[in-house]
Amino acid sequence: MSSTDLSNSRIVAAYRGRTERSAELARQAQELLPSGITHDARYLKPYGIYVERAKGPRKWDVDGNEYVDYYGGHGALLLGHNNPTVVAAAQGALERGTHFGANHPNEVRWAEQVRRMVPSAERVRFTSSGTEATLMALRLARAFTGRKKILRFMTHFHGWHDHMTAGHNSHFDGSPTAGTIAEIAASTILLPPGDIAALKRTIEGNDDIAAAILEPTGASFGVVPVSSEFLAALREATAKRGIILIFDEVVTGFRVSPGGAQGRFGIKPDLTALAKILAGGLPGGAICGRREILEELDFEVTAAKGHEKIAHPGTYNGNPVSAAAGVAALGIVESTDACARANAYANELRHRLNEVLAAERVPWAVYGTFSGFHTFLNPRNRDLAGGFDPAALDHAELTANSKALQQKLRIALLVNGVDLNGRLSGFASATHDRAEMNQTVSAFGAALRMLREEGELPQR
Ligand code: PMP
Repeated sequence: MSSTDLSNSRIVAAYRGRTERSAELARQAQELLPSGITHDARYLKPYGIYVERAKGPRKWDVDGNEYVDYYGGHGALLLGHNNPTVVAAAQGALERGTHFGANHPNEVRWAEQVRRMVPSAERVRFTSSGTEATLMALRLARAFTGRKKILRFMTHFHGWHDHMTAGHNSHFDGSPTAGTIAEIAASTILLPPGDIAALKRTIEGNDDIAAAILEPTGASFGVVPVSSEFLAALREATAKRGIILIFDEVVTGFRVSPGGAQGRFGIKPDLTALAKILAGGLPGGAICGRREILEELDFEVTAAKGHEKIAHPGTYNGNPVSAAAGVAALGIVESTDACARANAYANELRHRLNEVLAAERVPWAVYGTFSGFHTFLNPRNRDLAGGFDPAALDHAELTANSKALQQKLRIALLVNGVDLNGRLSGFASATHDRAEMNQTVSAFGAALRMLREEGELPQR
């Protein structure tokens, strides 16, 4: 059977058999929401699960099925679902009022906490999402430098505003994606990730680059890893030319280490975009960094300099509920071993899933860094007997998994009680433990055997 054929799949039949209420909700959603979904990453054929509740490392769908969850709120849930301290803080804030139309004490505590934990943070401005944080980062860099162009790296994701769409998973030639403006795409320089020579050539040959932005552990939390040598070269080259270096730590912030990737690698960007863990699992983002750059948002400083201030409204910036959850969550990340626990769990899980692959003689690999893991389905059928080194492969190959096979494996894992994201990547939390480890390892083996029965894997 070909992987694109879902109609006769026993895996899909098993999925349909245990998710009837999800199927009914999906039918209703189809009439209301484009593709029946609210985030592109949740697109799944024949339909995705509808989840009713979650706790720690687990969640339950509307049909009563239980899952070990590695979606992790798209990376927001380092502390697992519904950490009791974070829930209590958010509940208290809800009862006191969700919007005061005024400054409030917790936004000061929250900013203090960010500054204490993120090495490069001298000033902080809250936004409502990671997308808004990277958008503001680019605007700050342009206003501060007076330059126009933005340097980005192919496959790195920074949200969905107009500057960030070409070159993430399509349009690697830099052409504009649907609905965006050619001039904006043309003001973005796209480079292959990890190519230090191309980076130096581009930076040396261009006087109009305002900023360079990247995910500091590589695209999609290391699906396409970048080395610390590349980070160091980028820091040096940008500093030399007065280019603002922006770390997008929306995922890595408070996850890789309490101080994020910059804390872990000892490299200071000029600006940092934050979201996800920042707001304890509620909506929220922030841009932080060098004081004189953030001061492009300051009424008095810009007036004194004769600059036009960057406008920044936003109804839910620093909202009281997200602020309370964020202060609570960051306090736990700062004072416990939450990052280290999640990192250690993912490290062991990667190892054990590779053991399952070896035992089942499947020529794939599970890889990743820190608390992430990614599944490489070996689209070019390389011989991986000598081990798998993602740094030796280019971004095109690392992101070339068959989408149909990815979906089928994902569904087979759901049938066996494990939820990974659509790319077959996952986030570990500090709440994943022995039971989740063992369950995941046996679910992975069972899912592989289901795929083999359908002819999706070579016979042993
Ligand atoms: N940057 C990175 C690295 C991200 O992973 C994401 C979201 N997955 C964003 C930016 C955008 O954040 P948000 O979804 O909060 O807009």
